[in-house]
Amino acid sequence: MHKKDKGISSEAILSLKDVSKEFTRGGRRTQALEKISLDIYKGDFLVVLGPSGCGKSTLLNLLAGFIKATEGSCLMHKEKITGPGPDRGVVFQSASLYPWFTVEKNRNFALRMKKEPPEDIKRKTSEMLKEIMLEDYKNHHSYELSGGMKQRVALGRALINDPEILLMDEPFGALDSFTRFSMQKLLLNLWAEKERTFFLITHDIEEALLLVSKIIVMTKSPGQICRVYETGFNKKMIKDPSYHFSLDQDFANIKAQIIDLIKIG
Ligand code: ADP
Ligand code: MG
Repeated sequence: MHKKDKGISSEAILSLKDVSKEFTRGGRRTQALEKISLDIYKGDFLVVLGPSGCGKSTLLNLLAGFIKATEGSCLMHKEKITGPGPDRGVVFQSASLYPWFTVEKNRNFALRMKKEPPEDIKRKTSEMLKEIMLEDYKNHHSYELSGGMKQRVALGRALINDPEILLMDEPFGALDSFTRFSMQKLLLNLWAEKERTFFLITHDIEEALLLVSKIIVMTKSPGQICRVYETGFNKKMIKDPSYHFSLDQDFANIKAQIIDLIKIG
């Protein structure tokens, strides 16, 4: 629940206002994003859904501070985003782990970079290994892990510094459907157990509907927001382990609407 819903005044963590991004390559111009406005609040689980090329990664790269907008403002706590920072964790489609490190070392690497005291690193690492359910694998090297395990390590590594927001770009895109489903459940738990703020990009409609409370649907050429949905399927899934989305008529209706939107857009 947003603080604003609880009647407590709240400001957006991240705020985009009329953001456009144009790329020029070899004399060719691409309008990747046009006039995107978006506010992200503490505790949100927000997904951006849209076809390939509609500007999803560009949007994440702007929030992460990897690139700058051509027009409009990108603010974090009202301050202009000028580059990447530890307040924004990022997870990409393929986990970029250090192959020569074990799970445990990959995990606490971020903390060592921050020069935290050794006992804090040990405690936080062990707590995070529990959260991502990899306690038994802490001494494995990353080349010994499956794709799903590697993504869990990447998630844990991004979360261990307790970022204000976790930005994820198709984090399960390369996983098979069974692993993907268990990762989606893990992600929901990681979000629900603490008041974390997640921003996820996907082109998978079911993934979007299952995971989040707010779905931003984008269309391409130029990349624009065409519709925002507030749904509660993620809460159903957290409350009831036997909940099955494919038997839920509301789920099917919204899915059909989104397919039409993306087709038309
Ligand atoms: P998505 O993640 O939704 O697939 P992207 O944000 O990667 O889309 O890309 C949106 C559009 O911007 C595409 O047409 C893509 O080719 C173009 N684009 C993205 N990054 C660059 C870049 N660095 N230089 C030129 N064009 C780019
Ligand atoms: Mg992309």
